[in-house]
Amino acid sequence: MSKSIKITVLTPEFYNYGAMLIAGVLKDAGYNVDIQKGFEGIIDADIVLISLHSTIHLLKYREEIEKIKSFKIVGGPVSNSPELVFKYLSVDAVIIGEGESSTLKILENLEADNHEADQLNEIEGIAFKKGNKIIKTKKTTSSPMIRPLPLIPEDISSENIRGANVYIETHRGCPGNCGFCQVPCFFGRDVRSRTLDDIIIEVKEFLKKGAKRIAISGGTGSLYGSKKFKITDEYAFTELLKEISSLTGPQNLTIPDIRIDMMNDEILEAVKNYTNGWIFFGIESGSDRMLRKMKKGIKVDDVKDAIEAARKHNIKIAGSFIVGYPGENEDDFEATVELADELMLDDYFVSIAEPIPGTPLADDVIKTPLNENLLFIKSDKYKNYELSIAEERCLNLMLDSYVFRSIPVAMTDNLFKTLLEETKSQGNHIRTVTEMILEESDF
Ligand code: SF4
Repeated sequence: MSKSIKITVLTPEFYNYGAMLIAGVLKDAGYNVDIQKGFEGIIDADIVLISLHSTIHLLKYREEIEKIKSFKIVGGPVSNSPELVFKYLSVDAVIIGEGESSTLKILENLEADNHEADQLNEIEGIAFKKGNKIIKTKKTTSSPMIRPLPLIPEDISSENIRGANVYIETHRGCPGNCGFCQVPCFFGRDVRSRTLDDIIIEVKEFLKKGAKRIAISGGTGSLYGSKKFKITDEYAFTELLKEISSLTGPQNLTIPDIRIDMMNDEILEAVKNYTNGWIFFGIESGSDRMLRKMKKGIKVDDVKDAIEAARKHNIKIAGSFIVGYPGENEDDFEATVELADELMLDDYFVSIAEPIPGTPLADDVIKTPLNENLLFIKSDKYKNYELSIAEERCLNLMLDSYVFRSIPVAMTDNLFKTLLEETKSQGNHIRTVTEMILEESDF
């Protein structure tokens, strides 16, 4: 094969940054590459790179992926468990973790017509099948943080990922240890930051292509420029916000998450001045016992202090909560409701604990018998809706959050219906994922 081979980078639901990045790396290396969202139309590329970010995609897009006859490589967060990928999808290779260099190496091998298992074996950070056996090669080293521009699709301006056209990456890795999170598993625990110059060039390119609303992603935002699990360089983060904001305007810049123990007055003031004025905290639980179980590294009192500090800067505060974590009892849940009530946040996000393969939470869920798994135990409340205890808690906290938010919202039949549907959809999704990982683990 030559570099005239056609490559499509396929992303099922939205243009995720990782897909744009890998397409940019391939384009820079001289390949004929395009990026496609969804499975519409004929996919006739020689090689298709499929970026999947959720375990459920392995089931949801199984048929569509089956129909693609090209050489198929899967990457993205699902690659934490190549075994699961190969179980559900007939694909040729899986890129495990960061894929910039391993993808290029696979392509070089294909160009040289070396796609036999023995040749792929030499490439770090991939998995492939040899007969019925799954071969995982040596772990890849971290990718360099200086890289070419992403391949930005022409219709990026119509993308809407929780209000932003794109979530750009400013750094990789998180030294945190939260049991439900895949960031440390995927990117490692050392923080590696991009240069401000590179980020600014990239932001300009996104704006030139029509993007307007930019969000910053990459673990916990304020770690940008730091090396350890504390803010060692707050100036780097505040400067980052200031520079991006000067291009987008503050109203079009959002920072999705900051750990409550990784901020200070300078950072809060920068959020106020250079972003749309919202901050998002992962609060997760009102029970110190559960926070310990989640390995969150914070206490309920820390949460209260952080909210008070943010309020002094007139920042709008959103908080996320996780219910149905293994071991959560009724008292823990009540403590979460009480905390959520006391905080009177401006917005609330409630989710049922999702065991993402490769995380400590997934290990916990695998060890928990189904008759003790809150997602599989029927609740006596809301009998007509056939909810599990985890779903009942999720719905209750969502309903309550509309009452005790800073500006309460009246509960209408329609709103109730929407929240019930959201709860059931989460429950069904996570039950399916749980069954998938349980089946894979032979429990
Ligand atoms: S939830 Fe945030 S702080 Fe915790 S490990 Fe993930 S990225 Fe790090």
